[in-house]
Parts: sequence; structure tokens; C-alpha cells
Amino acid sequence: ERQMLGRLRRLPARLSSGEVVTLQANLEIPAELPMIAQSGAAGIGLLRSEFLFMNAAGVPDEDQQEAVYRPLIEAMAGDPVTIRVVDWGSEKNSDVLARMGIGDGGEVNPALGIRGIRLLLQHRGLLETQFAAILRAAMAGPVRVLLPMVSSMGEMRAAREVYARIGRRLRRRGVDIPDPLPPLGIMIETPAAALMADVLAQDAEFLAIGTNDLTMYALAADRAARDVAGLYDPLHPAVLRLVRMAADAGLRQRRPVSLCGEMASDPRCVPLLVGLGVRSFSMHASAVPRVKQAIRAVGMDDCRRMAHRALEAADGQEVSAMLTACADSLR
Ligand code: PEP
Ligand code: MG
Repeated sequence: ERQMLGRLRRLPARLSSGEVVTLQANLEIPAELPMIAQSGAAGIGLLRSEFLFMNAAGVPDEDQQEAVYRPLIEAMAGDPVTIRVVDWGSEKNSDVLARMGIGDGGEVNPALGIRGIRLLLQHRGLLETQFAAILRAAMAGPVRVLLPMVSSMGEMRAAREVYARIGRRLRRRGVDIPDPLPPLGIMIETPAAALMADVLAQDAEFLAIGTNDLTMYALAADRAARDVAGLYDPLHPAVLRLVRMAADAGLRQRRPVSLCGEMASDPRCVPLLVGLGVRSFSMHASAVPRVKQAIRAVGMDDCRRMAHRALEAADGQEVSAMLTACADSLR
């Protein structure tokens, strides 16, 4: 078993019909780096930058942030790293936010409150510092910059304005940064973003579908609440239809699309997602070999058939049963 997974590391993530899929790893803390290098992942598809702010005595400044990003980028040795600017809402990390003097923690419905890009546009200093640190570190290798929780074109444009301004400021000061600036893209994790993905992709240079939050917001079921765990289902056709919309939009606007929610770690789900039009996935490093194995076992026709059936299904249970049957028949 172990040997087989080791052998997989060197094999391409290619469907039996020939199409190649990109498999990358999520990084939540730097300690995961060796595992990522071991996994055969083609880069980091989602670097969640929250860890930077968790243990710090205060908010790390530009130099301190750059000193964290740079070795991570160097360690990937030319494989791309997608860095997401910090995604906070008052429900997560309320202690950190309090320390930073942000928010009063008094939101009635924090998941629907000031979170992700909303918070960063209200506290621009935080966004500016993070952009500057990332742009400087991007001299060490290929980087992309990702905005969380976008729900409107206004947010995309406002963030891009800050991004461009920080780029100009650094250049004016003689600081080395890439030219052109690294691609600036968005998470598709609100139903609004999925529905408007074609419009957003005019400005966003890439799309990263976040099915963890997309599921929560599409189904109005808290991803962390046990009492609605039975309603929270990324295989619900409502979620899959939104995923397909985002994938289609990326294809039409010629923008790369990836998917980085937990379902990307599930070998059962990935062929279906390929059928929906997604060609790039980012997952927990430990899942890369098995997902690759699942990819190599199917052809594009199988994937499209699964997608077609899933989109017409009545609910998530029906999709799940279909995937189990497919997995069995391919074994
Ligand atoms: C997601 O929402 O699917 C996602 C990848 O972001 P996070 O899990 O960090 O909210
Ligand atoms: Mg998310």
C-alpha cells in the first residue's frame, strides 16, 4: 500500500483518456511543508495566512510577514504558491481580532457579518501590509494572491486598487517586486460570487472555488454546527450547480479555476468535479496520492456522465449513492 502510494508520487495526475489535472496542497501552518514536498503536490494551491497572526505578540509588520512567506516560496522550488490574504470574521479568531483592536465581537450573525475581504477593506492598513509583504516575497518564486469572501465586483475593484497602489509605492521606493504584479484572484465561496463569476472574472485573474463556505452559504447550514451537520452537504446539487457555474465562467473568460474546499480531498468526489469542469484542485497534502489514483482510474466520459447525473439529482444523498456505485464499478 505504502509502496504503491510512493510510486504514485512520480506518476502524472492524468485521466485514462489523457487529460491532465493539477493537484496542489493546502497549507495551514508552515510545519506542513515537508509533508507537502513528500506528497507530489504541484505547488500550494491555498496558503491560509491566518497562522501568521495567531501566535504573534502583536500584528506582524511587513518585514516579519515577508520573512515567513519567502522561505515557503523558496521551499516550493519553482512550483506556484497561492497566498490568500487573511480571512477573519468575528466568529473565528475573535481573540486575535480583539488584540488587534478590530470589531467588538457583538455581531448577531458573524458568518454573515464583517469577514474576509469585507474586514480587510475596512482595515486597509492590514491589507496594504499583507500585499506589500507578499509582493516582496514574490521575488523568490511564482506567486498568486487570493482574496477571501468576495461577494461583489465593488470589493474586487477596491482590492485591486489597493494592490496596484501598493505595487506603485514599492517601486517608487526602489523595492524589487515582480513586473507585472502577480495575478490577483478571488475565492468563489459565496453564492453571489458563483452566480456572478463571469462578471467577476473580467477583473479577477483566477478563481478558487471554496466549497466549505459555498456549501454553508448555499444551504444556509453552518459548517461548524453539529445540529445542522445533516444539512451541510457539498454534494447537494445546489452546490454542484454553483461549482459548475464558476467553472464555466472561468473557461469562457479564460481564467484558471481551482477548487480548494474539503471535498477536493475526497477521491470519490474529484472525478465528479472534473466532470463539472474543474481541472485543478488543492487539498490536504495527505490526500494527494489517493486523489491522483482516483483521477488515473477514470476517463473524461465517466466524469461527464457523473456530472450530468449529479446535476439532475434530487438531493445530496442521491449524488452520494451514485458516486459510490461508480466507484464500485470502476474498481
Ligand atoms: C472554503 O471555504 O472552502 C475554503 C477553502 O476556505 P476556508 O476553509 O479557509 O474557509
Ligand atoms: Mg472559506
